[in-house]
Amino acid sequence: MEFAFPDTATYPALLVPKEPSPENSVGITTTVPLEIIFASGRVPVDLNNIFITDDDPSWLVEKAEGAGLPRNNCAWIKGLYSAVKKLNIKRMIGVIEGDCSNTHALMEVLGAEGVEVIPFKYPHGRDRALLRAQLQSLAEVLGTDIERAEAVKRELDRVRSCVHEIDRLTCEESKVTGEENHIWTVSTSDMMGNVALFEEKAKSFIREASERAPIAHTVRLGYIGIPPICGGIYDFIEGLDVHVVFNEIQRQFSMPYPTDNLVEQYALYTYPYDAHGRLEDIAREVERRGIHGVIHYVQSFCFRNIFDTVFRKGLDVPVLTLECDRPGGVDGQMRTRIEAFVEMLKKKA
Ligand code: SF4
Repeated sequence: MEFAFPDTATYPALLVPKEPSPENSVGITTTVPLEIIFASGRVPVDLNNIFITDDDPSWLVEKAEGAGLPRNNCAWIKGLYSAVKKLNIKRMIGVIEGDCSNTHALMEVLGAEGVEVIPFKYPHGRDRALLRAQLQSLAEVLGTDIERAEAVKRELDRVRSCVHEIDRLTCEESKVTGEENHIWTVSTSDMMGNVALFEEKAKSFIREASERAPIAHTVRLGYIGIPPICGGIYDFIEGLDVHVVFNEIQRQFSMPYPTDNLVEQYALYTYPYDAHGRLEDIAREVERRGIHGVIHYVQSFCFRNIFDTVFRKGLDVPVLTLECDRPGGVDGQMRTRIEAFVEMLKKKA
């Protein structure tokens, strides 16, 4: 199927400054309405990506521990703390409903250290009226309005359609690896801070990937849960005659459902709401993508680990739960468990 490339962009609603700086950047710790940040003329910076793509993310975790953050706490939180320091971030959006209590505590710590923290809530039950009020309040604090943010949404929708095509090339044509899919979808949380460049790169990637031969594989896997803190996991899995055809949360960052407005877009986005909403999305994609088994990645010390039982009970395919604590490679025990899981799936495939 031929992908219809969107028209050449002009970005009339994006007021992106040429050079991101500590003054015009807005740090984010999870996906928030980035349309509002762009509409205000500022640049969203996903601190998760800054942390995990650092040359030495382990050192950033240790640095945060040196500053007093506890060892027995989520390493992502410590990486976020050090990323704020590394970039000298002065303003952040703190999600105070729909994210974890560790993030709340981090915001208090950073607030006490002089960072301006703007609160944002994903209301319980996806209440549209409350969500609209949250969007309006965020727009006011950042000095913009919803009309301009809606115009930015229309521009980002076009860019997101390129990422959705990359996702389709992954699962329908097997021309994009699970890791490439992960990188493209996870990067939609802040569009790498430069929408024009992001769109240009995405289009060029689609042209290149479309020409590839399909990836040979016996087993089709889904990856659910937060993005991995350990490196090399996709490489290892995909070296076992496996194709990872679904990255659950990362795909959610790309806003996969067509919507007409910001309220609906952020009400349908599953990540900040209940696990059953996530389960519905995962079960639908497992069926649609012909997935044989699912890897559920959980982060040490994260409350989301409890949802493992919801996914195990609710999915019709085998689930392997993998837990990791700190940045680093895939350890021996994880390798053995993945290999045994894949062997079991191969026998059933
Ligand atoms: S992994 Fe869990 S505990 Fe850590 S920042 Fe994310 S939601 Fe919070």
